[in-house]
Amino acid sequence: MTDASVLLIYTGGTIGMVEDAETGALKPFDFDYMKKYVPEINRLKFKIDAVQFDVPVDSSEMNPEKWQAILRIIENNYTKYDGFVILHGTDTMAYSASALSFMLENPDKPVIFTGSQLPIGKIRTDGRENLVTALEIAVDRHDNGEAVVPEVCVFFQNILMRGNRTSKINAENFNAFNSFDYPVLAEAGTYIKYGHHLIRKPDRNRAVKFHYAMDDSVTILRLFPGISSAVLKATFSIPGLKGVVMETYGAGNAPGDKWFLDIIEDAVKRGIVTVNVTQCASGSVEMSRYKSGKGLENTGVVSGRDMTTAAAITKLMYLFGCGLSPAEVTKQVSRSISGEMQESA
Ligand code: ASP
Repeated sequence: MTDASVLLIYTGGTIGMVEDAETGALKPFDFDYMKKYVPEINRLKFKIDAVQFDVPVDSSEMNPEKWQAILRIIENNYTKYDGFVILHGTDTMAYSASALSFMLENPDKPVIFTGSQLPIGKIRTDGRENLVTALEIAVDRHDNGEAVVPEVCVFFQNILMRGNRTSKINAENFNAFNSFDYPVLAEAGTYIKYGHHLIRKPDRNRAVKFHYAMDDSVTILRLFPGISSAVLKATFSIPGLKGVVMETYGAGNAPGDKWFLDIIEDAVKRGIVTVNVTQCASGSVEMSRYKSGKGLENTGVVSGRDMTTAAAITKLMYLFGCGLSPAEVTKQVSRSISGEMQESA
């Protein structure tokens, strides 16, 4: 036994689900059930403690209150453990990992999200591998005692990704996640191969900070050919709306119609921070590349560069949660806070 320790936080998700006897539908179950199916946990040479949500949830139930609950558990236990593993449903894992990457500022310990596509009680489950390797990554330390991966990450099917760079890409296959615009931080084969130069380092002169406030006065607007002015107007007239993540085409392009650009320009003038991200799985917004992007740029829309939608929306929640003005959010949203976007071109 080493002196290392990890806290496992079980929030729910397929990994711990069992079939409802009456309906056959999957529903979350408690952590003891999971331990029974992963006896390997008892053979790991470090201490593992576990806590779980009072009521484990399907991750479609995730929201800022539940992110705050996860953060509270981490803060209350931060000095007691070397790392944290969060068991979470895959459906919204990219959102939760993104949110936590902003809410937990300057961590010097790993926070690893994982889950599975098949429940742990199934013979072919992917959950066992995911869980055991995530636990090992959470306690990996350099010779000087510093954590190897002091970041909020997602570990899934042999790859470790920066949490705020992940997207769920498959509803069935075991390789459910990808990090399209940032290289994977580690690959797990016969041994775990880290890309050390890709991993963020904490600023040792500053303490870790826990930010709880998340403002949900935000929305996502996905463009499609034929989007009407009624839809656009209704979106930008939502009472109290502060921020919009607009999913545009390709390199950040949108229709050049006057009515379209007028509605957006008016919204931006009214202080609604509008962030342009691409609908493409990969690549960056570059509004000045095409006339159709330039029009949008002139309205005051901010480039989200290569941010995922999940990172952009949770970043807006976090920045408005900090109490910043629209002008300040506009400035901050286009800067990398925790590695969620490429630094400005
Ligand atoms: N519906 C499940 C959830 O996100 C799916 C999963 O865990 O893979 O909680």
